[in-house]
Parts: sequence; C-alpha cells; structure tokens
Amino acid sequence: MRYSFLLFLICTSVIVSAQQARKIHYKATLIDTHNDVLSSTVLDGKDISHRIDYGQSDLDRWKEGGLDVQFFSVWTGERARNKEGFYKDANEEIDSLDAIVARNPERMVKAYTYKDVKKGIRRKKLVALIGVEGGHMMEGDLDKLQSLYDRGMRYMTLTWNNSNDWATSAMDETLHAGNLSHKGLTEFGKQVVRRMNQLGIMVDLSHTGEQTFYDAIAVSSKPVLLSHSSVWNICPVFRNLKDDQIKAVAKNGGVICVNFYSGFIDSNFAKKMDELEGARGKQIKDSLNQYYDAAQMNNVWRQLFSAELEPYRPTISKLVDHIDYIVKMIGDDYVGIGSDFDGVSSLPIGMDDVTKYPLITEELVKRGYSKKSIDKILGGNVLRVMKANFNN
Ligand SMILES: [Zn+2]
Repeated sequence: MRYSFLLFLICTSVIVSAQQARKIHYKATLIDTHNDVLSSTVLDGKDISHRIDYGQSDLDRWKEGGLDVQFFSVWTGERARNKEGFYKDANEEIDSLDAIVARNPERMVKAYTYKDVKKGIRRKKLVALIGVEGGHMMEGDLDKLQSLYDRGMRYMTLTWNNSNDWATSAMDETLHAGNLSHKGLTEFGKQVVRRMNQLGIMVDLSHTGEQTFYDAIAVSSKPVLLSHSSVWNICPVFRNLKDDQIKAVAKNGGVICVNFYSGFIDSNFAKKMDELEGARGKQIKDSLNQYYDAAQMNNVWRQLFSAELEPYRPTISKLVDHIDYIVKMIGDDYVGIGSDFDGVSSLPIGMDDVTKYPLITEELVKRGYSKKSIDKILGGNVLRVMKANFNN
C-alpha cells in the first residue's frame, strides 16, 4: 500500500514536471544558432517546405519542436564547389534560402534587423537568419563582406576547420601547428573583426583556434558568439572551449551555444570515433577489402561504422551537462542552443531531429532550473547578443 502510494507520487511528479516543461518550452523564444540543412537543399535539391522522412529538419518539424528563430549556416568546405570560388558557393546557398522563404511566406520570414526578428516571432513565423561558416567565403575582400551582409549575413565564423590568410582554425592550431605561417589574427584579420562590428555582423568564434579566439575577443567592441561549441573539460576535443575561454566569453558579454554532436559532448564516443578513423579502422577496412569490391565496400563500412558507434551514443542528460557546466561556472546569461542539426553524423539518444528540442527543456526542469533561467538559455541570451550587435 505504502509502496504503491509512493509510486503514485513519483509518477504524478514526473507527469507534472513534463507538463510544466512543455508549457515553458512552447512559451519561450527558442533560437538555434546553427543548422546545416541549407547545404543539402543546394546539393541534393532537398525541399524542406514540407515534412520529409530523412534528415533532421524541415518547416513542419521545426514547428513541432517549438523553434522560433533559425540561423541557417552557409557552408562550403576548404575546396570551392564552383570554379568561381567560395564567394559564389556562399551566394548559391543564400539563393537557396531565399527561394525557400519565397515559397513559404506565410510560415517563414527572413530577418535583417532585430526589429524583423521580434516581429517574426510575434507573428509566429520561423525567423530565418544567415550565418556564414568560414571567413574564407569573403575571399579576403571587405567589399564581399559587405555584400554578404547586404544579403543577410548576421554572423560569420572567422574560420571553419580550414584556416585562411588572416585567421587560424582550431583544427590547424591543434593538429597542424607545425605547418602554420602565422597563428591567430593578422592585421587584416583585426580589420575584418572591426568591420564586422561596424556593420552589425556577430563575430562567431566557433571553429577558431585559441589564439584567434583571444585575438578576436581583444579587438571586438561587441559581444561575441560561439554558434556551435561545447565544453572541453567534459569532452576534450579541439572544437570545444576550455574553462578560460568560457570565462573570457562571460567577461565579453557573449554567448556560447552548445553543439549536440555526440563526438563533441561525450569523450567515450570521441575516443571510439578516433579509433575507427585511425589504425583500427584501417585494419577492419583492409580485412573487408578481401571480400567486397569498392562500391560494396563503402556501404559495408558505413553500416559497420555506425553499428560500432551506436552503443557509445550519449544521453540527452550528457548534452545538458554541457549547459549546466557553463551555468555553474559563469551563470545563466551566457549559454544557448547551437545544435548543428543536419551537419553531424551522430546525435544523443532520443535527440533524433528538430522535433526533440523540448527534451532539453524537460531535462532542465528536472534539474531544478527556473522558468526565467530556461528562457535565457533557449533564446534570451542570444537575443541579447543579437541586439547588441545589430545596428537596427
Ligand atoms: Zn561547424
């Protein structure tokens, strides 16, 4: 009797906290500062206007997940897709976003100003903004920076994994340090940061090396953004932020939006990944080569690779540990959401697509976070940094 009453109390409190979480979640302004779906709309002609049963994002599913504002990442790798170069690639991705917005005027709006953002949220539309991922896309030309701004770019990561002539990346500063001709921001790099401040483009320090990070934060007159980076002390990989960097963001008044990628939030997953990409992976591949031709081999390897990694996928609680860690260190004013949906190969268990954002809120409620705190984490902090950066 007593036992069943206790069980009843536990069940009731779980239901109440889930209901409370849903209420908080759908009332809050939810902003995700990083999603890569745009590349697949350019490369595979994917139409995200309606629900699709592959990938992680589309308009229907964003609605279901309670998302209000999406920064669409404009991305191209270290080799340009077009023979005209990176700037052309960037413009093609922006064309693609513009086309999606034009096809869905009643459900989506592209924002250029802080006022546009607030208005779009009030009208319950998905507010779309552009984040360019990698300073190489401006091709060392301040006029091109201006043109990208004119087309809606409201943040730019100074580097992607590749360094450029004026800024070095986290990957190069940690893994290829010996090959670098310079480290951090050059004089031109500092000029780029100042011009971004002037125009109202957020300086995004995700992907940059530590030297570039500190150089940029010293030059920037405005709060910086980390659009998709997590905590090094929980998962020590080159893309994550060390404690001193986290403290520097707080001092600058910026915001760190945590990345959901399994390999950036869980060190066991990251280790397993390294193993499969290194000597052990090669060993397995060599042994498979005896039985399969090249085309079959790719398929078999892909399946085997994901099957090997599956048991190492982290929980959503592990993801929230990153938010919690930052809050415990510097308070609840400097953390946000930067999923990297449609840009990563593995996500925490249950975090299958953009409909699953409410699970984060649920976990925060379970940990005793107040509504006020959750509102800041889901979007309030990013709004503050946007307002401080945008000129109107
Ligand atoms: Zn990225």
